[in-house]
This record gives sequence, C-alpha cells and structure tokens, in this order.
Amino acid sequence: MSRARILILNAALGPLDYRVPAGMTVEPGSIVVAPLGPRQLLGVAWEAERMPSDAEVGDNRLRNLLAVADAPPIRAPLRRLVEWTADYYLAAPASVLRMTLASTSALEGARTAIEYRATGVVPPRLTPQREQALERIADRQGLIRELATIADVSDAVIRGLVKSGAIEAVEVDIDSAYPVPDPDHHQPILSDDQRAAADVLVAGVRDHAFKPTLLDGVTGSGKTEVYFEAVAQAIRDGRQTIVLLPEIALTEPFLKRFHDRFGVEPVAWHSGLRSTQRRRAWRAIASGEALVTVGARSALFLPYANLGLIVVDEAHETSFKQEDGVHYHARDVAVMRGLFEECPVILASATPAIETRQQVATGRYAELKLPGRFGVAEMPTIEPIDLIQEPPERGRWLAPRLVKALEANLEKREQSLLFLNRRGYAPLTLCRTCGHRFQCPNCTAWMVEHRLTRRLACHHCGHIEPTPRVCPECQGEDTLVACGPGVERIADEVTALFPTAKTAVVTSDTIWSPAKAAEFVGRMEAGDIDIVVGTQLVTKGYHFPNLTLVGVVDADLGLDGGDLRAAERTFQQIRQVSGRAGRGAKPGHVFIQTHSPKAQVMQALITGDADAFYEAETEARRDAGAPPFGRYAAIIVSSEDQGCANDVARLVGRSAPEVDGMHVYGPAPAPLAMLRGRHRYRLLVHAKRALDVQDVIRDWLGKLDWPSKARVTVDVDPYSF
Ligand code: ADP
Ligand code: ZN
Repeated sequence: MSRARILILNAALGPLDYRVPAGMTVEPGSIVVAPLGPRQLLGVAWEAERMPSDAEVGDNRLRNLLAVADAPPIRAPLRRLVEWTADYYLAAPASVLRMTLASTSALEGARTAIEYRATGVVPPRLTPQREQALERIADRQGLIRELATIADVSDAVIRGLVKSGAIEAVEVDIDSAYPVPDPDHHQPILSDDQRAAADVLVAGVRDHAFKPTLLDGVTGSGKTEVYFEAVAQAIRDGRQTIVLLPEIALTEPFLKRFHDRFGVEPVAWHSGLRSTQRRRAWRAIASGEALVTVGARSALFLPYANLGLIVVDEAHETSFKQEDGVHYHARDVAVMRGLFEECPVILASATPAIETRQQVATGRYAELKLPGRFGVAEMPTIEPIDLIQEPPERGRWLAPRLVKALEANLEKREQSLLFLNRRGYAPLTLCRTCGHRFQCPNCTAWMVEHRLTRRLACHHCGHIEPTPRVCPECQGEDTLVACGPGVERIADEVTALFPTAKTAVVTSDTIWSPAKAAEFVGRMEAGDIDIVVGTQLVTKGYHFPNLTLVGVVDADLGLDGGDLRAAERTFQQIRQVSGRAGRGAKPGHVFIQTHSPKAQVMQALITGDADAFYEAETEARRDAGAPPFGRYAAIIVSSEDQGCANDVARLVGRSAPEVDGMHVYGPAPAPLAMLRGRHRYRLLVHAKRALDVQDVIRDWLGKLDWPSKARVTVDVDPYSF
C-alpha cells in the first residue's frame, strides 16, 4: 500500500493523503489529478514531513489518485519556494502553487489543441450578432470561449458560425519548438565600464551559485546591454533565464531589443496570452526548452527545469508588489528563488529602493555601478520652476518658461514629454451651484472625468457612468466644473497653445495592450508625435533619441498622503522620467514644476546628488524603525456590512497579543475606507526586524472566529505605512 500527500489546488483545504493505485508512480513533485467529493482537482505530491496534514485518514478510507500528468515533476527548489512564499506572506500554499501550475496548463498533456478562426466565408444568415462577431474576430484566433469574449457574444453564436462555415477549426501544435536565441547574433562593443560590469555578471552565471547583485546604473547607461551578456552566458550553458519587467506595456520594446541582440524573440509570459499560447509556453518552460522567458511577476513561479539566471529590471518599481490574492513582492521572491535554485539574481535599476541599497550596505548583495550614460549622451540639465514665483496663466497648468521651452523644441523638431501621473481629464467634478461632488458608489474615491470617452470613471473599482449634463442634486444645467488637471486636460492645453503640434496621450487607457505599446513606439520613432502627455507608463524603459525635453507638470503630487515612502517614490519617479530626456546625441532638458523647490527631494533631483538624498531618507527610516530597519504588516478587515467589518476589526484589535518589540496601531478606516463595495478597516503591526511577526500573526488570527461575511487579509511588508 502506498500513500502520497497531495497539495491540491483548493486554498480552503490543507494537503490531503491519497492512495497511489498499483501501476502508478508518484514521487515528490509529481503533478497528479486527485478526487475531492465529486470533483477532480490538480495537485502536487509533497514530502509528508514538510506538509503536515490535520486530517489523518486510515489506509482503508483513502481514495485513489486518478492520474499523473504528462509533465515533469515540480522540482524541490520550487517546492521550497512555494513553502517559503506561503509562510512569509501568510498565504495558503495552494494559492501559491496555483501560480506554478498556471491554470490547467499542466493537466492538458495533449500535443495538439484546437483553435478557431474566421474563414472569410459569409454565412447565409447574417444576424447583427453574427456580423458583430465576424467583424471583431477578423484576424484573431483562439478557443470558442476566447473568441466569444473578444466579440462580446455568447458561445452559441460562435458555435453557430462554425457550423455555417464562417469560422473553422485549426490544429495548434502545443509542443512545437521555440527558436533558440543565438548568444553571438549581434554582440555590441561595450564601453570599459560596461565591460567590467558584464564580466562580473558573466562569471556569476558560470559559477552556478546564488549571488544577488544590484546593477545600479544611471538612465541610459546601458544596463540592458550589460545584463544581456549574462543572459548570453546562460544561453551558452543551456540554462534558463527569467527576465521580470514591471509592466506588460514594456514587454513589446523589450522583445524588439532582445531580437536585435539574440536574433529571435524570447518566450513572453503575461496575462494577455491565449490559453493555447499559455499551455505551449508552460510546457516549454517546464521541459527546459524555453531558454529565456520575459514576463510580469507571475513568470517567477513557473516550473523552470534548469534555471541559470534571474533578472529583475526596473527593480525599484512598485508594480512588483502584488496587491491582491497572494500579497507578495516579486523582487523579494526573485531573490529567494535564486537562493533555492542556486543561481545569480540581477536587480537592475537607476533608482534602487532603500531596502535594496541597505542590502548592499550590509554586504548581502553585491553592487555594480554604471556611473555615466553610454556613448556621447550626457545626463540632462534639470531646472525647477517655482509655481509661486512663476505661476501659469489663469486656468492653465503649464508655466510660461515651460511653454517657451516647448515652443523652442517644436521649432527644432525635437520631441517633448509632459509627465503628470493622473489619468483622465480632471480628478474631481463638482457642481458650481450646489457644490455636489461626484463620488464612486462602491469606493471612497471621486469619480474621474474622462473626456475622450465622455464618462466618469472610478480608478479603483472600474465603475463608470456617462458624464451627466445636469447636476443630479440641484438639476442645474451646465453647472458642472472640472477641478484640477489630468493628462487629457494638459493635452487640451497643449493643443490650444500649439494647434499644429502632434500630441499623444499615453496612459493605461490608451496603451492597454503590447500591440498598442508597439504602435506608440513606432509613431515616436517615425517622428509622428511632437509632444507626449503621459502618466507613469512613459517614465521608464523607453529610449527615444529625439526626445530632448521633459516637463514635470506637478512634482508635488506624490508627496501628498504623507506616508513614509512618499519622498522616495517622488524621487524615483521624477528621476526616471527625467531619464527619458537626451538619451541620444542631442542634450536633454528637464523642467520640474513645484510649489516647494526647497524641499529636500527637489534639491536632490536638481543637484543630482542621489547619495545625499538616500542617506537622509535612510536615516529617517532608521529613526522611525521603518523598513528595512523594522517591519510592518497590515491586517485588513473588510465586509459589505460596515458594522460587521467594524466589529471584527475591533475583535482583532482587542485580541492582539502583548509581544516585546511589537506594537499594533488601529483599527482605523483603511486608506481606501470603502473599496468595491466593501468597508475596510486596517490594523498596522509594527515590529522589530528580528521578530517573527508572521508567526505572531498566525497564532493570533488562528485563535479567532468571525462571521463568513467578513474577510481578514494580511499584507506583509505593505507598500504604504
Ligand atoms: P538603461 O537601461 O541603463 O537606461 P539602455 O540599456 O536602454 O540603458 O541603453 C541606452 C541606449 O544605449 C540603448 O539604445 C542601447 O541600445 C544603447 N547602448 C547601450 N550600450 C551600448 C553599447 N555597448 N553599444 C551600442 N549601443 C549601446
Ligand atoms: Zn469605485
């Protein structure tokens, strides 16, 4: 009789024991199909001693495993990572494992899949729905369900079209090979600084040992070219590389650069993949055939067969922090994966996080510096514009000096970028007669006016409504006024000032897919855009040699809110966006509009003295016992029923254990007191670095009971504190 402990993909249950039927071979890591009630679930066999089960079942009551998947077992280093992530972030191991198995990719072993695409045949009966479907899926391909979603019709409409011959089935070979990158395809000639850094990284890859390294190079110093040398070495050794990018919008320019360097594209992993593409990528990653994978944070948990290198590009970016489901920080998990897999980890950034700098200071991470831009490019000049001394004209947002600079740049036929981290037209709309303000019904947030789509939108839950003409409160007509600027409003101002200039608004509303990002890059490169008005989406990654002027519309924006990270975040964002200026032969100029040019962060940006700024910030953190010198965890209690959320939050607060070196603040309404219709309260746990705060919280919450309509989630190392 052989039994196996299986971690099944059900977050509510712990690992369960099953019987391994005769003839089936199950080892730790095997991906299996297990029965649970009437259902069949995917799971992974685990070492029983590492995964205690609280439901010990006698041999005679065990159920049989149903099948072993046709896929390589999940290797021990990744099993350790799943355990560590679940433990550290107080998540269910099954929730972490789900990211590894990536939906049903592992289960469906079949070598071919069937997808559907339009044939061009017009069906005899062309209903409006069928017409809409055929129009929207013109050159798309996918499963019936996916085509139905794209076309916004029911599955039945697509099936009807298949029957009538307007859509046909095509076989897709899931196991068709990916092309192998050529490490010598186009090797750049590195500068001396670049060569020195690349040599160290290449040696690290050859060593096959855990080694985290901060690649700290100013914007335009050629960090990508440098870490590409390490990637080339991993390819030569036949080992796999993960490159993590903070946003899928950056995938497209990355694919192009990778292609220039290695002759083929890497495997891309992101939420936009079709299900067959996902299965094909997953299998190639698990077999070791996919040598380089680029992706957003979820690529980190895939079952690489033979990992040789992990790169986290723009490692300071806050989007590496996952804010729902398992609340993990991909930068930190990447380092842990490197530890378990025994491979080097490169964190590349021009503005490293204080946490990362501190790891360097204590010697836990190595550091490589690229102090200057590559080639003839110089760092841009940076000038503050004091908005009190030089205010914009009434009803405008751009100061005269910035307007003049834009005009001069247009005359020189060079490109400009105006940065404002606010989507839409205006952040607040109110009625001038009665003062009514438009608020989201589901969130503690104002509705943001979007003129392009003529809608009011909540940026937290996605709630939208048409912009009304009449005030719903006082019925006044044309009494609504927009307060404050968003990027659309700045674009309007630019058009009013320079009617013939070609402007483009770049936000997640306009660049919502890799294809849209590619289109934007193409237009920039073709000189089809004179002035870009954009949010944080344009602050990083892009390289446009003819972009020479950057204007920061409101540098003070990120300083509001007052959390301890505000100054650091502002510094990173403005330094990154400044880094877009003058990356080629032509010099760059940056103007920073601010009400407080004397503030330390503004001074640091103007003088470029990053070290002094970081030292001061680090000291402030040390004094406050804030990360990385102390630790925080946020406990969020939410419910649709406000009274219930409040009661449970107070119960959690009352039950807080007395622990030396730990202090609990709250409960208080969370920073977003209502989100997606749920009322939220927050308790903030502040602890000494040495304290195992997860253990304390696990014990503390484990003893409590609360009604099922309340949800309690823990965010370890929360972004704001
Ligand atoms: P960073 O990521 O540090 O901001 P990039 O890697 O984007 O910098 O490099 C900036 C520009 O300089 C890119 O167009 C890149 O191709 C170019 N570049 C950097 N190093 C070299 C090199 N050694 N040879 C040729 N071009 C280079
Ligand atoms: Zn909302």
